Amino acid sequence: MSAGSPLPVGVERRTVAGEETLATRGEPVYGEPTDGDWRAWNASRSKLGAMFEHGMETGLAGGDRVLYLGAAAGTTVSHVADFAGPTYAVEFAPRPTRDLLDVAQSRDRLFPLLKDARSPETYAHVVESDLDAIVQDVATRGQADVAVRNAQFLADDGRLVAAIKARSEDVTADPEAVFDRAVDRLGDAYEVLDRRRLEPYHEDHLAVIATPR
Ligand code: SAM
Repeated sequence: MSAGSPLPVGVERRTVAGEETLATRGEPVYGEPTDGDWRAWNASRSKLGAMFEHGMETGLAGGDRVLYLGAAAGTTVSHVADFAGPTYAVEFAPRPTRDLLDVAQSRDRLFPLLKDARSPETYAHVVESDLDAIVQDVATRGQADVAVRNAQFLADDGRLVAAIKARSEDVTADPEAVFDRAVDRLGDAYEVLDRRRLEPYHEDHLAVIATPR
């Protein structure tokens, strides 16, 4: 895929195990190939990785202060913590959060939080304000609403970098209609700067880059 836009410092396009790939430096997490201390970043397993493969301008520069919503077992947030600054990783399911704690062992900038992203007041005392970015991949009903509720954490020039999964909102509706509704709701707190579907890496997912209003 094309790679027109700058990658954050700490993310490189490299050849790992004979394949050209995005890569970050850190301990491997999900069986990804490595080359020295570089680890391949599989865009088919990561919406943020797919955004970079599509050359989207995420605003992430490296060293950023990040709130990551929907961290699961840490596949993507581990790469984020490899290149970003403090990375607050919210996940509400206990089982993946246990794996996330293991991922954080070798990453002193990664802070797992067993919290519900729909209730930001439960972690507002832990997470810094004026963050550079919210990266969101919750794949649950009300994805835009989650982003709107968490906008309070962003600096005025911060970025929302969100993946919206159509089927999590409505399995029967046309994905484009679902995406339009989500972008409309995001407009309550954000100005949308870019939107793009993530095929061929992720079917029926929309990437949205936005900044607080
Ligand atoms: N972002 C992950 C990655 O690329 O490594 C994959 C995330 S998976 C698609 C979605 C995750 O969001 C699941 O682990 C789910 O438990 C979590 N999630 C869904 N709703 C949530 C909520 N309200 N608060 C916190 N986590 C939530």
